[in-house]
Amino acid sequence: QGKRFGRGKASYFSDALSKAAHARMRMLTDLRAAFSAERLSLVFQPQIDLVSGRPVGAEALLRWQSDDGHWIPPDQFIPLAEQSGLIVPLGEWVLRTACQQLHRLTELGYAGFRMAINVSHAQFREPGFVPMLERVLADCQVAAAQVELELTESIAMEQIDAITAKLADIRRLGVAIAIDDFGTGYSSLNVLRQLRIDRLKIDRSFIEELERSNPTGSIAQIILALGHQCSLGMIAEGVENEAQHRSLREMGCQEAQGFLFARPMPIEQLEVWMAAAIA
Ligand code: C2E
Ligand code: MG
Ligand code: MG
Ligand code: MG
Repeated sequence: QGKRFGRGKASYFSDALSKAAHARMRMLTDLRAAFSAERLSLVFQPQIDLVSGRPVGAEALLRWQSDDGHWIPPDQFIPLAEQSGLIVPLGEWVLRTACQQLHRLTELGYAGFRMAINVSHAQFREPGFVPMLERVLADCQVAAAQVELELTESIAMEQIDAITAKLADIRRLGVAIAIDDFGTGYSSLNVLRQLRIDRLKIDRSFIEELERSNPTGSIAQIILALGHQCSLGMIAEGVENEAQHRSLREMGCQEAQGFLFARPMPIEQLEVWMAAAIA
């Protein structure tokens, strides 16, 4: 009796597992098809200077609308692209498309505007990453200084010497590096210093906290103090309300991004939004 029960349970779990595996496989097939058919797109979320209140840049975010009209969140399909290696051509497409839009914004007169682009570790790790970046910058005729790559903190867990060398190559091109979702990982201050990054993006979870508790002694404040100490640029992500905005300004955070200012939007809409924001 017990034995039969045990076997039943095992096959129940393996069925569930293979169902999940099949769903993932199907999603990957759909994603590849959407990518080939150029059905992926980018949206752009403005980044605001908290002193002037003006936009200083935007983050490019990938969007996928499936055939049945559903929007599939990047948190679901990016991991699949990473595991399958699709992230390499897909990431190059993101970089190129974002740089083309940056070129266009510059032509419209937004000189010095920054484009922040997310880069997966799987993509960054590729030996051809830096030459690819250089090629894209040249093809799109954008100034390297206007491009910022967002990497997550766990980059610091990888082969540190190889990472340091690669980041130095990128810096030599003039491209900036930001650490995304900062505070959620395990990077040591020492490693961060060695990597010589340009900016920290304070993770949304620490901005959310600001609403409920006194900003004094908050994690956001500690991160800001750390950033200032290391002369890093600082940006808060996920700012949704005035209370958070006020706290961040009081704490001397330079920049912010979030629904309070603007949602991620297609380029045509960004152009309209920018014209109104700058006027
Ligand atoms: P992320 O880079 O940390 O991007 C910020 C996420 O927060 C975005 O979600 C954005 O839409 C969302 N967000 C912005 N402001 C607010 C706010 O005020 N409140 C809340 N609740 N959310 C806000 P999204 O677009 O769904 O992207 C999720 C993640 O997917 C990104 O996190 C990034 O890790 C990844 N991702 C997106 N596009 C790309 C890409 O082109 N390449 C790579 N490698 N990863 C990407
Ligand atoms: Mg990001
Ligand atoms: Mg983030
Ligand atoms: Mg994230």
